[in-house]
Amino acid sequence: MSQKFTADYFDGRTARKQSVSVSVSREGLHFALESKGDILWSFANIRLQKIGNNLQNLRFEYEIETEEGRFVESLIVTDRDFREVIIALAPPGFSTSLRPPDLKRKIGFALGVLLIPFVLYALWISIIPSIARSLTLKVPVAWEEKLGDTILGSMSPEESRRNAPQTQQALEEIVARLLATDPQQPYKIKIHLQSDSLVNAFALPGGHIIVFQGLLDQTDSAEEMAGILAHELQHVLRRHTTQAIIRSVSIYLIFSTLTGDVTGAMQTVLDTASNLGHLSMNRSMETEADRDGMLMILKAGINPAGMIQAFQKLDDNLNSDKNQSSPDDLKTESSSNILKYISTHPLGAERVKNLQDIARNSAEKNYSPLLPDLDWKKMIEREFPKPEKKESL
Ligand SMILES: [Zn+2]
Repeated sequence: MSQKFTADYFDGRTARKQSVSVSVSREGLHFALESKGDILWSFANIRLQKIGNNLQNLRFEYEIETEEGRFVESLIVTDRDFREVIIALAPPGFSTSLRPPDLKRKIGFALGVLLIPFVLYALWISIIPSIARSLTLKVPVAWEEKLGDTILGSMSPEESRRNAPQTQQALEEIVARLLATDPQQPYKIKIHLQSDSLVNAFALPGGHIIVFQGLLDQTDSAEEMAGILAHELQHVLRRHTTQAIIRSVSIYLIFSTLTGDVTGAMQTVLDTASNLGHLSMNRSMETEADRDGMLMILKAGINPAGMIQAFQKLDDNLNSDKNQSSPDDLKTESSSNILKYISTHPLGAERVKNLQDIARNSAEKNYSPLLPDLDWKKMIEREFPKPEKKESL
């Protein structure tokens, strides 16, 4: 028999509470009532409930039959040590719900928690991208166009566009020559110029290509610009942006489903994962856009030296920017611009070398000049005059 514990006894007929002293044996609970003397409630007939704020109090219910009817008497024990005594003495089946999870279950739980990141990583790295890839192929062009229009509206609003008719026309002619190599393609390409010092160009789903002034300033010939445009066109034709968006949306939907709601913390994790994953995923897309862009240039009979030079230049800019030891304000601005370029367009000597290899190994060696009557540099300087404060890289 165990030590004695104080408990509250209710007779199930009135609300009156009686304080009793309970002890435990292997048979059951023992206590005494003035009116009835010694009482034994056997474990076989006791119903156990956990009550209270943290379910730390125990209520034992015991049904008795009298001449007046059936009543459920109860004992409530708040002493925490009582639980241990019950576990030690009661039959295992009775005290299951009181036992702490055993070691095996604890380890299983810990492993589960540890595995979650790996499961998420697998989802992120292989399952979701492959779903996104196959879904992307099923998306109708009209749907991509709508998506592209929406993104264009927020990313490049009408008032931030630059009206530069000659440059616009030149870029459209370059695109036309490039697209002539792929007459079956379903997209209507629309070029949008933006007066932003960002050294970048973006392809949106459905055929919008945004070209920033910072990038135009860097080009010395129509052939260089053609290299950039061929690359961006491949992003459109190969539905790269659409795929990236579908992937992000899938992640969002999966987490919403799993969690019932995306909490702020989860959202932050997602945003971070999304950016990092985007970058690594885009590297393979970039490689693809480089390769097929260069093939397009060659097929269009455009001198590939322009594309090589354009990417070489961006790489050089990147490196000279990195070597700046004490950047002034302008440099800081340009380095953040260049950083933006890296985050969307990973550059490197290897990339330039790959372009050179494709061009060198190509059978296509008959190039015809691109926009021969146009002075490219003058056109850019005229339509995109530099501000007073020269922004030299
Ligand atoms: Zn790209």
